[in-house]
Amino acid sequence: MSDCLFCKIIAGEIPSLKVYEDEHVYAFMDIMPLTKGHTLLIPKTHCKDLFEMPEDVARNLYAAAPKVANAIKSAFNPVGMNTINNNGAEAGQTVFHYHLHLVPRYDETDGLKVQWNGRQAEFPPE
Ligand code: C5P
Repeated sequence: MSDCLFCKIIAGEIPSLKVYEDEHVYAFMDIMPLTKGHTLLIPKTHCKDLFEMPEDVARNLYAAAPKVANAIKSAFNPVGMNTINNNGAEAGQTVFHYHLHLVPRYDETDGLKVQWNGRQAEFPPE
């Protein structure tokens, strides 16, 4: 899609810090990381969200997810990882090209706070 930010990142028209790429997916460091190593995994085929994601696109994306997760684990040595995916503005989606957040976690006090629909959610819950 010509006016999609993440399609432009895939095309190299907007710079990104690439973590992984194959025929079907692209992964890059989030520009505003929630924790060290926060990465976004996106399909090369444009689809807005999970509701519009064809099955083969989902299969290829999730086939790559463990590889990306393990690359982050090797590079940053986290003790855990959250995968987060927002679908729809009301659910907190701000870029309308499907993306899976991979958020490494370091200990139970790293205090990740995520804004969900105007409310603060905390991981781990208080
Ligand atoms: O789930 P949501 O749509 O809110 O996430 C969009 C993510 O895209 C944000 O974490 C934001 O920091 C990231 N982003 C980015 N590079 C850009 C624009 C947004 O990594 N150029």
